[in-house]
Amino acid sequence: MTVTISSEALDFLLITAAASADREVCGLLLGEENRISAVVPCANVSPEPWHRFEIDPAALIAAHRSARGGGPAVIGHYHSHPNGLAAPSPRDAADAAPDGTIWLIIGGGAVTAWRAVAAGRRHGRFDPLTLACADGPPTSKRETSSRDFA
Ligand SMILES: [Zn+2]
Repeated sequence: MTVTISSEALDFLLITAAASADREVCGLLLGEENRISAVVPCANVSPEPWHRFEIDPAALIAAHRSARGGGPAVIGHYHSHPNGLAAPSPRDAADAAPDGTIWLIIGGGAVTAWRAVAAGRRHGRFDPLTLACADGPPTSKRETSSRDFA
């Protein structure tokens, strides 16, 4: 399964994550199905932002309201790992509802894509997705396969 994103949005994610060395950055992914058309940075309101993220609920509500009004759907979210590991952490797995949401994780200059899927009664299994640039052939730096971490 491939998820597409613009190279501009991908660069934005890499730059904002790199600029935040001591706290996770996070935001929403808008678009349809497997096509990310926009990324929306949101405040990380977690009380422990250095190793957790919690998207500002007001931003989430606003995005869903906009979607109901005909705007792009909320298809997922992104967050960074200041420790540089671009793969879901055990904490991410514990938090992941198997609802088809796309997760982008930024770490160490890479962006990986995942989808939370049901694992019995427990939360916590991610299927790796391939992330590709929608606007032309990506450079090697711009395409990252989540398979490297599976
Ligand atoms: Zn995480």
